[in-house]
Amino acid sequence: MWPLLLSSLRHVEDDLVMMDDLNQGLLMHAVKERYKTDDIYTWVGANHSVLVSVNPFKTLPIYTVNSMEEHSKPSPNKLPPPHTFAIAQSAYMKLKLECKNQSVLISGESGAGKTEATKQCLSFLAEVAGSETNVEQRILNANPVLEAFGNAKTLRNNNSSRFGRWMEVQINERGSICGCRIENYLLEKARVTFQTTGERNFHIFYQLCVSGIGHKFNLDKPSAYRYLNQSGCESVRGIDDSADFNDVALALSQLCFSEEEMDELFGLTCAVLHLGNITYNSDGDQGSVVAPAGSTWLQNAARLLGVDADKLATCLCERSIEVRGEKNRILHKPEEALEAADSLAKAVYAMLFDWLVKRINDAVRDTDPSDDASRRFIGILDIFGFEIFKQNSFEQLCINFCNEKLQQHFNTNTFKEEENVYRSEGIKFEKVPFIDNQPVLDLIEKKPVGLLVLLDEEIRLPKGSDAKWLEKCDSNHAKHECWLSDKSARMHMEKTSFTVRHYAGDVSYSSSGFYDKNKDALFRDLYDMMAESKFGVARATFPPKDKNPRKITSISGQFRTQLNDLMKVVNETEPHYIRCVKPNDAKKPNQFDTKMCVEQLTYAGVFEAVKIRKSGYPFRLLHRSFVARYRCLAKGRTQIPVSGGDDRDTAKKIMGCLPQDFSSVQIGNTMVLYRADEHRILELLRNLA
Ligand code: ATP
Ligand code: MG
Repeated sequence: MWPLLLSSLRHVEDDLVMMDDLNQGLLMHAVKERYKTDDIYTWVGANHSVLVSVNPFKTLPIYTVNSMEEHSKPSPNKLPPPHTFAIAQSAYMKLKLECKNQSVLISGESGAGKTEATKQCLSFLAEVAGSETNVEQRILNANPVLEAFGNAKTLRNNNSSRFGRWMEVQINERGSICGCRIENYLLEKARVTFQTTGERNFHIFYQLCVSGIGHKFNLDKPSAYRYLNQSGCESVRGIDDSADFNDVALALSQLCFSEEEMDELFGLTCAVLHLGNITYNSDGDQGSVVAPAGSTWLQNAARLLGVDADKLATCLCERSIEVRGEKNRILHKPEEALEAADSLAKAVYAMLFDWLVKRINDAVRDTDPSDDASRRFIGILDIFGFEIFKQNSFEQLCINFCNEKLQQHFNTNTFKEEENVYRSEGIKFEKVPFIDNQPVLDLIEKKPVGLLVLLDEEIRLPKGSDAKWLEKCDSNHAKHECWLSDKSARMHMEKTSFTVRHYAGDVSYSSSGFYDKNKDALFRDLYDMMAESKFGVARATFPPKDKNPRKITSISGQFRTQLNDLMKVVNETEPHYIRCVKPNDAKKPNQFDTKMCVEQLTYAGVFEAVKIRKSGYPFRLLHRSFVARYRCLAKGRTQIPVSGGDDRDTAKKIMGCLPQDFSSVQIGNTMVLYRADEHRILELLRNLA
């Protein structure tokens, strides 16, 4: 009996909801024990919509084509083993059977394995669904390109995504992939001009420096560039920039980028590096000039940007403003000229990234109009997790806001989904309270005084500032439960900080820089100069602004619009969640830091979800499956048909002839629903029968 009992226990461990005790410690113990044997995945709940994934930091042999094939043919009476492929398979099946759009929402902190999970889901779909036009290969080719331009080595992750993405893999009525739509969020463009010690700029810069084509753009070694040599990190163990560049070039050509487009793309990227090296001398009291005269950095930058060198120099060293129809010049001091170059560098790079995504979208778009009505999608979201650093700024507030939204979605969904099942099965249930983070969402985004709403207002005022914004937040939210501000403490200590009570904990932000970061202004002269570049790619990235009163679009405004659009789409899908966990900070295999993991699973709402699921009826089998599995328990005890008959009736009869009290088992309209205790007894009896 032991081996049988063990095998049933082992199966129970696949799923946290099936455990006897809800105690966090025991749940954690289960995840840890599984991790020791390289079982990095665990289900939360029998309906397979939530998967916990713990980063193994080593290559496991579980992502082969064979494994994909196995996962694509799950047995109807057996729970599929937990795996990213099982999530992808479940989404794909549901899309086909129910004709409903699906989403896979992947979350976790930096280095937890979100991007790897995204790639695994994409590869699975490419393999299993395939396509009639090879578009799935182009979709896979988007990865090396997006990673080269959007990923960087950070202290937390050698290949950290510095942008968020949503990939909508479109599937036609024949079940084949027919296209894809990619949306990108909040590229960390500050990295272009500055990186913390030990981190790197975006991979593509180093790739270009070591590639054979660097000479075409007058590129030197990374150490020659201000934007690359400040952080003390130019190469990364485990990253082969030269080989990666070859992959990027190949992927671009497979995405049908023309030679000319590639030249302009790389040229503009290199221009950024040259731009950062231009130096300036004072000129008179106020002004500055590019020095030395005829600077090769200036020449190279101008050539690669497709603009006139003198014009570039002028636009960096001064700007024009219009006051009541009259044009005036404002001269830049050398440090202001340097800042202007930095903001141009960031703008060029960020715009280029947007262009790249747009261009990739063109290459993976479904062009078959007959798909229009029947096309469905599986959306995969790979987006930054909660960030709580020593220093938190505007970017963290945006990122954490985004996580609050997703968490809200997760909570409501886990809860609603339970309720819906009970309702449609027509069984009794108790309402379970769940954590609602609406208050903090309101604090951040609700009109007219949400933090980000006030910040947008501030940048429209002629004399707005970080301090004035903070003052307004304070006066509007002094009593808000999620706004923690100790004004008197602030007077003495950090004058600029404020704290938000997030779902994942209290986060202190420093308000300095919020105004500028949100406004994200590029001097108009520089913008207009780029809009007239002789290169098509540059002109496409800087479309002429209309001359009429300019509508200021703030970073937070743009992001909030994008996020609301995303949530609208996600709300219409059936969601699947992958909660990625980073088990240690050393990025080492076989190390499981329990405290770290508890924290992450708490942020991810996993314990809460287990509780919600567990307080209901986590085990549910269709009448037919229940009868098939447990018919043997009634053998010889009662009159039940050997096969056929009414399954609901038979299920009732089976329950009726068991020695234990099974009165809490619910026989619903289509399913039998029960809890872990009953499940265990049923399985034991079955093994003994
Ligand atoms: P970020 O938010 O910084 O982008 P992330 O969550 O996307 O982080 P990944 O880049 O996916 O993290 O993973 C970090 C590293 O962990 C990978 O480069 C890889 O070395 C390792 N890793 C993650 N998942 C797996 C896996 N399933 N198998 C083997 N290694 C993995
Ligand atoms: Mg990533």
